[in-house]
Amino acid sequence: MNLLRRHPIALGLLVLLIVSGLQPLPPLLDAVTGTVPAGADLVRPTTYTMLAPLSNVLDALTFLSLARARAFLAVWVIALGAWGALRRGSLGRRLGRAVIGPLAIVLLGVGAVLLPRPVPALVTSDSSVTVLDYHAHTAASHDGRPGWQLADLAAWHAAQGFEASYVTDHNVVFNQTIDEPIRLLPGVEWSVFGQHIVAIGAVAPIDRSVYNRDTRSMLRLFAELHRQGALGLASLPEYWVSHWSDLDDFVAAGVDGFEIVNCAPKAIGFPQPQRARVLQLAAQHDLLVVGASDNHGWGKVTCVWNLSSPSAHGYRANHVIARPIALAQGEWEPWTAAYTQPWLMLRGLSWSERSSWITWILVILIYRAVPRRAGDSAGIGILARSLELFKLRRPPSPPAQGGKTSP
Ligand SMILES: [Zn+2]
Repeated sequence: MNLLRRHPIALGLLVLLIVSGLQPLPPLLDAVTGTVPAGADLVRPTTYTMLAPLSNVLDALTFLSLARARAFLAVWVIALGAWGALRRGSLGRRLGRAVIGPLAIVLLGVGAVLLPRPVPALVTSDSSVTVLDYHAHTAASHDGRPGWQLADLAAWHAAQGFEASYVTDHNVVFNQTIDEPIRLLPGVEWSVFGQHIVAIGAVAPIDRSVYNRDTRSMLRLFAELHRQGALGLASLPEYWVSHWSDLDDFVAAGVDGFEIVNCAPKAIGFPQPQRARVLQLAAQHDLLVVGASDNHGWGKVTCVWNLSSPSAHGYRANHVIARPIALAQGEWEPWTAAYTQPWLMLRGLSWSERSSWITWILVILIYRAVPRRAGDSAGIGILARSLELFKLRRPPSPPAQGGKTSP
């Protein structure tokens, strides 16, 4: 207890880990019904759970909306910088501490985008559905990660339980089919008059200028896609940001469906009331509703999967399964991100992840609690500590001639 009192951060974290467990969030939610999906589960690899504090933090950073990411970064950089600068010590030490906290936050952000690591996978018990992604990019897109090839994209999807993905680069048609390690299907993402239209199926090049003049010309693209035998889906965030008052015209023009969850930072904050309005429209007109990873090669985890039933059509043909922390991005004001994102992350922990966090905290506490004796070098880390423990148990030996005596 004394140990915990001397380490208020560890104590606070332990309390939060337990209290958040009393208000748990499920690992997955059906984005249409808001209920826990039957027959789909999120499976975390053993190494993911062993490294839970790192795994969970990097996932939580990946699922920040752009506005919330900015607020999160600003608040934590200022708070950690100030805390480091105001602690006791020489000027040099305080300056060092003022830099190291903000640097750690920035490095975690970079880690979330780039660090190879184990990832959770969606596993379904229903063999009649396909775990599908409708919207993903390669280096062929202007904003795709350089060197992000079809094989990288397929491996990224396979690791997270996807069985197939459409390849929808910006204004670059993909019209091959690749079968390994998952099926990559033909598609494209057309940018036309403030809207991105994800075309899926056998697609052919178009003259974009024809559809780029105004909203009416843009909407004619749906008919052209149908003529090609493809489907046209309205992508987020564009229909929300630029064409919110045109949704009935989208329907009249033949839109085949709407994205209702998209993991890109600009789109993940799509608010629940707007999602409800789109769902109502889609249900009324029997349109498809889908989730999109919108992967561009950055970030290791998706916030959404689709369980697609080939036997069904329209609104019922697809189930959108999302991480609750992603669906919550639109519910919280950006300025609250510094505390709401960690809180959402903690509430979403499974009990094995929670146990992993508690074990790490206790190991670090015990390590720090072993008193350092004068004359021991600090450099050997935990090995030095365990040698010290061993020494403590031995009966005191008479001082060797010429040797140093311990105090
Ligand atoms: Zn995209």
